[in-house]
Amino acid sequence: MENENKLTYREAWQRTLRAWKIYWKLCPGRFVSDLLRCLFQAVSPYATIWISAQLINELAGNRDPQQLMKWVLIQLVAGAALSLVGGLLTRWYHFERSNAARLDDRIYMEKMLRMDYADIDRQHVHDLYSQILQNENWGGFGLWMSLDHFGNLIYGVAAVLGGVGLTVSLFLNRVPGGSALAVLNHPLFAVGIVALMLLIAFAGPACTNQSQKYWSVIAEDSRMGNRYFSFFGFMAHQRKRAVDLRMYRQQENICDVYMARDDLTSPDSLRVRLCRGPQGLWLAAGQCVSVVLTGVVYLFVCLKAWGGAFGVGSVTQYVGAITNLFLGISRLLETMGNIRTNAGFLETSYEFLDVPNNMYQGSLTTEKRSDRQYEVEFRDVSFKYPGSDTWALRHVNMKFRVGSRLAVVGMNGSGKTTFIKLLCRLYDPTEGQILLNGIDIRKYRYDDYIGIFSVVFQDFQLFAMPLGENVAGAASYDRERALDCLNKAGFAERMASMPHGLDTMLYKDLDEEGVEVSGGEAQKIAIARALYKDAPFIILDEPTAALDPIAEAEIYSKFNDIAGDKTAIYISHRLSSCKFCDEIAVFHEGSVIQQGTHTDLVADENGKYHELWYAQAQYYTEKTA
Ligand code: ADP
Repeated sequence: MENENKLTYREAWQRTLRAWKIYWKLCPGRFVSDLLRCLFQAVSPYATIWISAQLINELAGNRDPQQLMKWVLIQLVAGAALSLVGGLLTRWYHFERSNAARLDDRIYMEKMLRMDYADIDRQHVHDLYSQILQNENWGGFGLWMSLDHFGNLIYGVAAVLGGVGLTVSLFLNRVPGGSALAVLNHPLFAVGIVALMLLIAFAGPACTNQSQKYWSVIAEDSRMGNRYFSFFGFMAHQRKRAVDLRMYRQQENICDVYMARDDLTSPDSLRVRLCRGPQGLWLAAGQCVSVVLTGVVYLFVCLKAWGGAFGVGSVTQYVGAITNLFLGISRLLETMGNIRTNAGFLETSYEFLDVPNNMYQGSLTTEKRSDRQYEVEFRDVSFKYPGSDTWALRHVNMKFRVGSRLAVVGMNGSGKTTFIKLLCRLYDPTEGQILLNGIDIRKYRYDDYIGIFSVVFQDFQLFAMPLGENVAGAASYDRERALDCLNKAGFAERMASMPHGLDTMLYKDLDEEGVEVSGGEAQKIAIARALYKDAPFIILDEPTAALDPIAEAEIYSKFNDIAGDKTAIYISHRLSSCKFCDEIAVFHEGSVIQQGTHTDLVADENGKYHELWYAQAQYYTEKTA
């Protein structure tokens, strides 16, 4: 976070205005209801104060029963009406506030969903996002807090204007000549009292703001404390950790680590030391200054009334009005200080929201060809991951034959998955070109291009949603087709035991009756999802290492049957799984070092494929080609 002291008020305002603009588009009702509620809350006390003053003046003066009755009635009706309107406005505001409650999550989530994949993978982007969450968690700082500033400013301005309006006559009403207290009529007193009022108004909030500044001093420590709390505090709920924790008797150790790093409440932590020391003292000083100086102003009001400048009712009016005036000023100044403090945290939010989408988006459409005659070519493609100095792919040249079965094999880390990520345009090549039907893939519309691929990635993810929605990727879908895809993927038997068929909830995260599925079952669902998409290219990244070579080979050959007329691409470090393919590309250290059919490749005794085949042969049932 940027040092708050370096931020000008202008910059702080600009950041806050930007936050308001973002929210205005999403929830205008939140602003309108807050505006009316705060205006009303600020001004309505003055109406009550003024009516009470009239009533007391009448009581202490003429005591005309008719007049008294009139003021009592006005007081009652106005009191009831004000409460009613105030209640309605507050209720409306709370309704709008709850509607808008999770909007900041939505703002960040939408950004995350639309960000270039390459940026999602960047550590810096993740750091920014987790910093935003931590800022919100430990101090409520960020976009959401700027909404509170809006209401507070409205309240402050309205309270100040109302207070000034009811206090002006304090200086205009004169103590009658002849009284010793007539000296209070001297303009110097008026100047002195106004000066004192300004001092009260500014000195108190200035001390409070000074105290507030310490929040940014402890930001780093508190964020860390909160991180520890989030990690250790929620650890006990994580089922996956429960076994390890018990097996290795880690419970005690974990509690000790957590307590030792408790930066939020431990007596030696910076946060607690500052609360005991300067932060707490500034806050107390703010309160003292206000109370003592306000006493002096009230004394002035009482002395003027004593001298006969106005009745006792007006004393209540001035005391009430001045109290509210101070409240308004201090709310205004505190809000200004808070706006500045929060603006420092907003910087992180905007850095995240402003991550640009650098991927070039073309306008060509990939024709939906019924013959699926797509041809993809890698032309001298090289690639480095963002922030990495080493080549993950180097000078890759390859063409896929349409409708063919292509295998990408090689040892772990040889670049197979990277090759697929480039093919699906999750990243753009650092050098070289990828062509679809002879045209650079960057020139196609991104959604259109990505639509021609179905990939079952190694680390695919399913959602805690009904089975059918997982397969179709949508809430309303073709149930027959979803069933057909699940059957083809070999899931029929398991589904027969599922209580609600396609509507069975997967996992227990969101539903007690959710069904847990094994790794192999999850993969079948993921394959069904790829089939449902019905894209011309279907890609199977190597299944989890948990599968043994024979099971993997079975999945691959079954996949081969269900892939039909699609261009299927298989990835594996196990050569036996792919030997049926029309063409096999052997990756090694980021380059394609051999290409051909299994028979050709295994016959080349000097080649890598031959070496890998015989190195792995011990695992297969059939030991030779
Ligand atoms: P394979 O799929 O053949 O196991 P990968 O394509 O996953 O290999 O990896 C190729 C190389 O790129 C490896 O050296 C790996 O460490 C590196 N790599 C993979 N993913 C990333 C990433 N997100 N950032 C940086 N380097 C990566």
